[in-house]
Amino acid sequence: MTLLRKNIAAMVGYVPGFQPENEAEWLKLNTNENPYPPSPEVGKAILAEVGTDGSNLRKYPDAGSHEARKVAAELYGVDPSWVIMANGSDELLNNLIRAFVGEGEELAFVHPSYSYYATLAEIQGVKIVRFGLDDDYRLADFPDRYTGKLFFLTSPNAPLGFRFTNDYIRDIASRCDGVLVVDEAYADFADTSALDLVSQCENLIVTRTFSKSYSLAGMRLGLAIARPEVVEALDKIRDHYHIDRLALVAAQAALLDQGWLLENLTKIRKTREWFSTELRQIGYRVIPSQANFIFATPPDLDAERVYTELFERKILVRFFTDPLLKHGLRISIGTREEMEKTLVAMTEIG
Ligand SMILES: *Cc1c(COP(=O)(O)O)cnc(C)c1O
Repeated sequence: MTLLRKNIAAMVGYVPGFQPENEAEWLKLNTNENPYPPSPEVGKAILAEVGTDGSNLRKYPDAGSHEARKVAAELYGVDPSWVIMANGSDELLNNLIRAFVGEGEELAFVHPSYSYYATLAEIQGVKIVRFGLDDDYRLADFPDRYTGKLFFLTSPNAPLGFRFTNDYIRDIASRCDGVLVVDEAYADFADTSALDLVSQCENLIVTRTFSKSYSLAGMRLGLAIARPEVVEALDKIRDHYHIDRLALVAAQAALLDQGWLLENLTKIRKTREWFSTELRQIGYRVIPSQANFIFATPPDLDAERVYTELFERKILVRFFTDPLLKHGLRISIGTREEMEKTLVAMTEIG
């Protein structure tokens, strides 16, 4: 179609993890979904919002998501003016590019990390720079001053699972002329977070998602902690009614039930450590993970073979054809029972 913008016609588009048709038949460890249900308060809040006749749904939602921002601000110890809610953190990543990077200007991210940044950059006609990693999982060739407009730092890293220390993140921020966006999609599973740095580093923004730790991938909810000037800018850019009524009450209920969150996080972390140890015992190399997945390399480095054999057993994990990743598999952490089943299969496969 010749009427399309050239970059849109040329781009491939993001390919999400495979979603099988008969989901119940599969053990799905390929998209880092949470194996446990969300807080029961979430379902209750949604049902209450729908009410007996759904008549609340006639009305637009609160465009400024004030209540949810207040709850998040309290939880993270910041003023509500430092919080924005989002229709999935993907919405924030997109709008941050639109806010900070003009057409033809440059943004950067780590390779390997979340490949969706590239898709979003291509849509905006933005130049992309990728920084690699050295053997100690630090940035290779990161300049004394990075002059691009925005740098996405995924921490914990996906798909490798390690995190950057706050000292290192502070150092990176101080070397960026533009903004440093720390994508903390998995930070609830980690030992540390860069949230405290937002008030210390003028150019630092943290994004979070409800999709993984809060078991709400299906609701589409995210948030960012940023300076009020940034929040104001993002508020101008976003769709007016970007979060629907059900998602708003779900967000509040989920954030208020920290007990439920902690219980699930504890279980997942424990299963992650157990599964990592077991895989190492059958000869896998497993990167110590700070997320709800692990990146594991089989002894013969033939991850595609293991992927295929697991697929035949209806166990879905993530295999990337990228040359930097094709030796390993990203495996989401499910329940202990699910991981026991996966371990048995991987032991058989060898
Ligand atoms: C899952 C994920 C996201 C997207 O989160 P949503 O809130 O579901 O849009 C963003 N960044 C990374 C690194 C992720 O893994």
